Amino acid sequence: MHLPAESYERTGGNGRTESVRPVIFVVEDEEDIARLISHNLQAAGFEVQSFVSGASLLIEAVREMPALFLLDVMLPGTDGFELCRHIRQTPVLSATPVIFLTAKTGEADRVKGLELGGDDYITKPFSPRELVARIRSVLRGLGQAPVASEVLRLGELEIDVSSMTVQVQGRNVLTTVREFRLLEYLATHRGRVLSRDQLLDAVWKETPFVTPRSIDVYIRRLREKIEPDPRHPQYLKTLRGIGYRFEVPR
Ligand code: CA
Repeated sequence: MHLPAESYERTGGNGRTESVRPVIFVVEDEEDIARLISHNLQAAGFEVQSFVSGASLLIEAVREMPALFLLDVMLPGTDGFELCRHIRQTPVLSATPVIFLTAKTGEADRVKGLELGGDDYITKPFSPRELVARIRSVLRGLGQAPVASEVLRLGELEIDVSSMTVQVQGRNVLTTVREFRLLEYLATHRGRVLSRDQLLDAVWKETPFVTPRSIDVYIRRLREKIEPDPRHPQYLKTLRGIGYRFEVPR
């Protein structure tokens, strides 16, 4: 079976796909700031790889496929803007979000950063909380518009949209970002029948190599994570030949 590629999953030595935390690539030449960023992002549930310059960034990025780049603009050698230009020209990385980090506050720089394909722009000094919120907001923006309610409580399930966490009977369940998006989309459209194509459009918008059948793989994985008995699902119902429907069990 062709498994959809996903930046948030890696295949371990045993060939099994494992969930990991989203990886953020950070380029920051000021050591103290780099440490502060790294500490706070890790505490917020991200994995961080820090670089002091952009020299090895692209090679590593193509290998690792990070979820997001956080680029300081003023760097020795290649600056953050130039790095962003390279990222946007690298096919496998071109859709990966970029957030600029800089002491420059001029409107011209802000515009330049966004024109180069940056997704957001954070000026120093920044609060760690703001940084985390902006990163989450950019990552969330990849899938769909945020829903009004931040926490969905459905049966024994709790889906926290802002922290992208899922709990089953108060127990944390690890999901990949795509699994989370799929579950979130189904849950916010609960009671409605959604075809594989609809789900694909909603969750995998810009990923051409994912096929409608891949949805089945994701649904199966989600069932194993959230259903008390995955063979007799209560939440994620199959409508044979049509698609899927999220139901809230009584
Ligand atoms: Ca700098």
